Parts: sequence; C-alpha cells; structure tokens
Amino acid sequence: MANPYEGYAKKKDFLVCIDSDGCAIDSMDIKHIRCFGPCMVEEWGLEEHREEILKRWNEINLYSMTRGINRFKGLAAILKEINEKITPVEDLDSLLTWLESADELSNAAVEKAAKEKNSICLEKALNWSKAVNQSISELPKEDVRPFDGVLEKISALHEFCDVAIVSSANYEAVKEEWTRFGLIEHVDIVLAQNAGSKKSCIEKLLTYGYDTDKVMMTGDAPGDMDAAKQNGVFYYPILVKHETESWANIMDAAEHLKSGTFAGEYQDGLIRKFVDNLS
Ligand SMILES: [Mg+2]
Repeated sequence: MANPYEGYAKKKDFLVCIDSDGCAIDSMDIKHIRCFGPCMVEEWGLEEHREEILKRWNEINLYSMTRGINRFKGLAAILKEINEKITPVEDLDSLLTWLESADELSNAAVEKAAKEKNSICLEKALNWSKAVNQSISELPKEDVRPFDGVLEKISALHEFCDVAIVSSANYEAVKEEWTRFGLIEHVDIVLAQNAGSKKSCIEKLLTYGYDTDKVMMTGDAPGDMDAAKQNGVFYYPILVKHETESWANIMDAAEHLKSGTFAGEYQDGLIRKFVDNLS
C-alpha cells in the first residue's frame, strides 16, 4: 500500500485527530451485539447460556475500560470467565499462551499457531474470527451511520483545524463510510490499520510541525486516550451511550484548544467523565 502520508502538508496551526468506529461512526454496538458475541456463542456451542454470555461480551468489549480491545484478547477474557463460572473450555491454555507470546494478533497468525500446536481452541478462535468478518460484511450498510451531528461538527472544526482520521479499522471500510456520508470532504488525511498504531500515527503527524498543545485526539476507547497521552496531546472523549451529547459539546473543546485553556481542569474533567462512564 502507498505511503498514507504522501502529499500531506500542515495547513493550519491546529490538528484534530478523529477515531472512526464507535467515535464518528456508530458501528461498535452493532458489530459486537450482532456479530462478535453471537458468533462466539455459536462456535463454542453455548446456546444454553446465550443471554448471560452476550451480556458479559458486551460489557467487556463495549461498556468497560476494556472497550475496544483486540478481538482475540476479548475472546480470551470471556472464555476464561466461561471456563471458571459456566463450563470447561477445551484447550483454553493454548489460546492464553499464544496471546502472551504472539507478535501479531491476526487471523493469519492464529491460523499458523493453530497448525503448529495442533490446537482445537486456536482453531475455533480462527473459525470464529472468520465468521465474525463474514457476518460484519453482511450487515446492512444503512445500519452503520455516523452519530448525529458528526458532519456538522467536523466541518466546523475543519475551518480552523487540520483533520486526520486516526483509526485501527480497515482502510477501505473507513474510507467508504466517511465518503458515503460526505465526511471525507472535511478530512485532510486518512490513517487506518495500514498506517500502524494510533500512537505512532499521532507521533508522525506531530513531525509536520504542530505544537502538542494545539492537537486533540477524539475517540471512544481507552486506547485512544492512551495514544493521546503518550504523545502529550489533548484527549476529547466521545462517551458511549452519550455519543450525540459528546459531539454536541465538541466545539467547547475546540474553544479551549484555541484559547490555550485545555490543559488542567478542563482536560481532567473530561477524562474523569470518560473513565466514570466505563466503570
Ligand atoms: Mg473507536
């Protein structure tokens, strides 16, 4: 894939980085509720405990501080609980051991490990992950939309900020969704899965000459906050279950960014609300 930074130039003093899934686009709930959880129940034959397991799946992946974790880590977390509280999970240790040592948590990596170890649990993890991808690809397009107010706010931010998408989702999917809803016109650069971690994307963007106190990352998951913190830039959270309200208030953050009053009380308050909302 071509260098995603090719042709990029700083145009404004301010930069706003925006995550896609669960932040600008209302796609997290639908993927977890309709695809990840149900595919897991099916692959492991847990129909008898369906409701209880799906509730915990959603808590782990959507409504707690583990929101947005890698799919295989989320899978291991729930299988551990099932193994302890509900029913034994065959060969679970193979998955746990793989997670500790793997350099890469992808379908290709799990497939290789499943063969090498001749592991039933890793094989199931692969089948599940593929079934999830298939099921996500079959979601009706009209069910995945931006949260209310996103277009209006991003266009307002773009008047005085450079705008970067900083996402760990698939590049084509992100580009397609942002294009379909007219958001892409207000975006200066698209950094997705192919561009590396969110932390490294923000780090690279800073090399174009932005002052860290003129940069804000907007996201919905603890990983977004960490990527901001690690680069010394500000974090504006989109709160799960309060996304519309969060977007409605984003111009307050923009005002703080412009007036140099983001640091301290305002930033601390935002982070407190974000953590409380996931606790
Ligand atoms: Mg997100």
